[in-house]
Amino acid sequence: MSTLEVKDLHVEVVDDEKKTAREILKGVNLIMNTGEIHAIMGPNGTGKSTLSQTIMGNSAYHVTKGDILLDGESILQMPVDERARKGLFLAMQYPAEIQGVTNAEFLRSAINAKRPKDDQISVMAFLKELDKNLDLLDMNEAMTERYLNEGFSGGEKKRNEILQLLMIKPTFALLDEIDSGLDIDALKVVSKGVNSMRGDNFGSLIITHYQRLLNYIVPDVVHVMMGGRIVKTGDADLAKKLEREGYAGLRDELGIKV
Ligand code: ADP
Ligand code: MG
Ligand code: MG
Repeated sequence: MSTLEVKDLHVEVVDDEKKTAREILKGVNLIMNTGEIHAIMGPNGTGKSTLSQTIMGNSAYHVTKGDILLDGESILQMPVDERARKGLFLAMQYPAEIQGVTNAEFLRSAINAKRPKDDQISVMAFLKELDKNLDLLDMNEAMTERYLNEGFSGGEKKRNEILQLLMIKPTFALLDEIDSGLDIDALKVVSKGVNSMRGDNFGSLIITHYQRLLNYIVPDVVHVMMGGRIVKTGDADLAKKLEREGYAGLRDELGIKV
């Protein structure tokens, strides 16, 4: 079992023009084990993406206090690629487009980056795995011969992120608004992909605005983030309650002023 722990995390971003720092995360605590799917919900601008970017190591986000631990080891000093090799994955972490690199080439090198030099994946094994996952996601094989993300529609990009997830097989996946802009059919396919990853060796943090996605990917734990903190944690019913009562209801219940 692996554990990802976020401990009293405080994060600032610097406004380049004004040269001032602003605290976005104000003491986030979270413990996630493999075998679990957690969801983070919360109003816009509350720091959800900041949390996922900081876990992945985006240097725009400065940790001023607290820690992020993977199996007890701090990852704060590790660059993004090292965190990826350690088993973290952020949907959207990869460049929008990589010129001259096909999707398949990209996937193979991403898989191999995680493996030792003397144990690289064979072309046959790679293609077999690729075929299986393309089938699962109702994706056309032609997608893999196109240049990465070049001219992909919004829906194709999302499906492709899930293809990356299935091929790279991270230990922990941070999925930030993978449901945004998807129609119901694409949402079902994306959910099927994530659900197929469920198991003892996989954990996921699903960030979403809406409860809808959580009808398809049922989380074990739901956290609500407001104002840079996790203000409530519960089970899947918490998401349903939020859908009924809105964030305003929760603010009232917790006595949080806007
Ligand atoms: P959420 O994902 O919950 O909508 P974000 O984490 O994207 O929230 O944003 C939280 C706050 O941090 C917002 O006020 C946003 O403008 C600010 N912010 C996020 N990223 C940056 C950045 N790179 N530079 C400056 N401000 C940022
Ligand atoms: Mg936002
Ligand atoms: Mg966001």
